[in-house]
Amino acid sequence: MFDYGIKFWSKDDFVIEDGKVKIGANRKIALIDVVSKVRESGYKGPLLIRFPHLIQKQIDKLFNSFNTSIKQYKYKGNFKAVFPLKVNQFPNFILPLVEASMDRDYGLEAGSKAELIIAMAYTNINSPITVNGFKDKEMINLGFIASNMGHNITLTIEGLNELQTIIEVAKDMGSPYPNIGLRIRLHSMGSGVWAKSGGINSKFGLTSTELLEAVKLLKKSNLISQFSMIHFHIGSQISDISPLKKALREAGNIYAELRKMGCENLNIVNIGGGLAVEYTQHQGYNNRNYTLDEFSGDVVFSLKEIAKNKKEKEPDIFIESGRFVAASHAVLVAPVLELFSQEYDERALRLKDKNPKLIEELLDLYNSIDERHAMEYLHDSLDHMESLLTLFDLGYIDLQDRSNTEILVHLIIKKVIRILKHKNHNEILQIQEQIQERYLLNCSFFQSMPDYWGLGQNFPVMPLDKLNTRPTRSASLWDITCDSDGEISFNKNTPLFLHDIDIKNEEYFLGFFLVGAYQEVLGMKHNLFTHPTEFSIILDDDEDCGYLVENLLEAQNILDVLDDLDYDTKDIERRLKQRIDDVENLSDEYKKEVLGQLYIMLSENGYLRTITISGKSIK
Ligand SMILES: *Cc1c(COP(=O)(O)O)cnc(C)c1O
Repeated sequence: MFDYGIKFWSKDDFVIEDGKVKIGANRKIALIDVVSKVRESGYKGPLLIRFPHLIQKQIDKLFNSFNTSIKQYKYKGNFKAVFPLKVNQFPNFILPLVEASMDRDYGLEAGSKAELIIAMAYTNINSPITVNGFKDKEMINLGFIASNMGHNITLTIEGLNELQTIIEVAKDMGSPYPNIGLRIRLHSMGSGVWAKSGGINSKFGLTSTELLEAVKLLKKSNLISQFSMIHFHIGSQISDISPLKKALREAGNIYAELRKMGCENLNIVNIGGGLAVEYTQHQGYNNRNYTLDEFSGDVVFSLKEIAKNKKEKEPDIFIESGRFVAASHAVLVAPVLELFSQEYDERALRLKDKNPKLIEELLDLYNSIDERHAMEYLHDSLDHMESLLTLFDLGYIDLQDRSNTEILVHLIIKKVIRILKHKNHNEILQIQEQIQERYLLNCSFFQSMPDYWGLGQNFPVMPLDKLNTRPTRSASLWDITCDSDGEISFNKNTPLFLHDIDIKNEEYFLGFFLVGAYQEVLGMKHNLFTHPTEFSIILDDDEDCGYLVENLLEAQNILDVLDDLDYDTKDIERRLKQRIDDVENLSDEYKKEVLGQLYIMLSENGYLRTITISGKSIK
């Protein structure tokens, strides 16, 4: 894998050129240059880079695809969409999104009071707002206030009691009323790990019996004219399109039936979210079995068929896909701090005058490896290591012998890889797991890729440069939390190979792509590592370098992190100072210096800034 499967997951958002990952726009800008520039200004540690032009690109793709299908099938309804805020609520994502959707029927979806406040403040006034999730009276009130502001807002009812509350609030507040949507409970299910939102046992939605009751209530309270939308959501990251087609048939028929019951203003079928993102880097491991155009074509065609059969008007199509719009806009860049076996250097060998026989043999293997015997010697040396470690456990060899064993075996591995470098990787793939290199990354997977930890979701990862050189090391990735779950281990079926870097002398950065959906707000502060330093890259041809760095926000400093946990940070500072003051035998000058250093550290973020290897300070 030289190209890290970029053709599967990047859709030309990023391309490889001159051995570097570059932005796939007119001016090809290398990510490594952007990273160097920002690091030169003193921002170390992991960086989250946002690309607002990719938000625009996804919104355009979505609308173009649906509008093309609508034209193709001569469909009479319109296409509208909202972005579900739960996917990414950060202002540096939402503000560009709102700007990019100025000329579109594209609004925001809220699932909580706080999200609704964001939607009310930022949604373009003619664009739609939808409100899903459980609602109390206050939240419904908020919906009426939005409606008073002139927003085109639809409250989607998840249960009959919410409808009762709407009827009460309508009596109190009077018009203008928000529109009302009903979430229907389907017996169709989504697929994949996120499928729990659909199906007859799902957490949300009205059963057919409840739907009939709801219509009765709406009519009785003269609110039936507000009822304009039915809604379903079969789950995120729909991998297979067939459950969606089933759900569409079910929803389409419910739509037609409800209209026949006198729901005259019902004219929207909201198909929820779930449009999948292709995360795979490996042929044969696709995350979805359809394209966007098939998806939009199927939706339009299904609804057209049902409307025709039931002789009803073709409904407007409404979609709430969030992952599809947000995922590609953000890239996490993590500096590599260390390669685990780097310390196994020939100079570290301390061979004795008389070494155990197996160690002499290891030395022999190391000195005499050639291409013909490489694999055989490698196997022998791994066997020898097993035996030597057993001998150590039994007390027959000492710590120096054990250290020599480790060094020699790692030297043999490196030599074999060097010798076989130009051969097909398959030859040594069988043992790659045993000879993998561990790369320590300056980031937290818990903070920046929680779905990796929680759901086993893999994100495309690749080095930002050196792509002209064949990567030779099978790699496992380790973050800097002290949690053994903070590891992305080497997988024989979907292998990751990285370069053998002397990190003392050169920098090496890995990019994790498609991390723009869900990861940020779900990210947790395990070990108190917080949201990384972030910034946006605005493409701008007037600039010499072709871009501007904007909205730079440094990761929270240590005092703020502790403040978030409700520590009294003044008390912490006071205690630290007191403890230094209390030390006897230290000069006042020295104490002052130590205290100064402490204060600086408290004002910086908690990611690693420097790491000292063999006395040389880097990063
Ligand atoms: C989460 C959610 C979405 C967004 O789903 P994606 O998979 O991100 O497209 C849409 N609608 C509802 C009701 C949701 O709960």
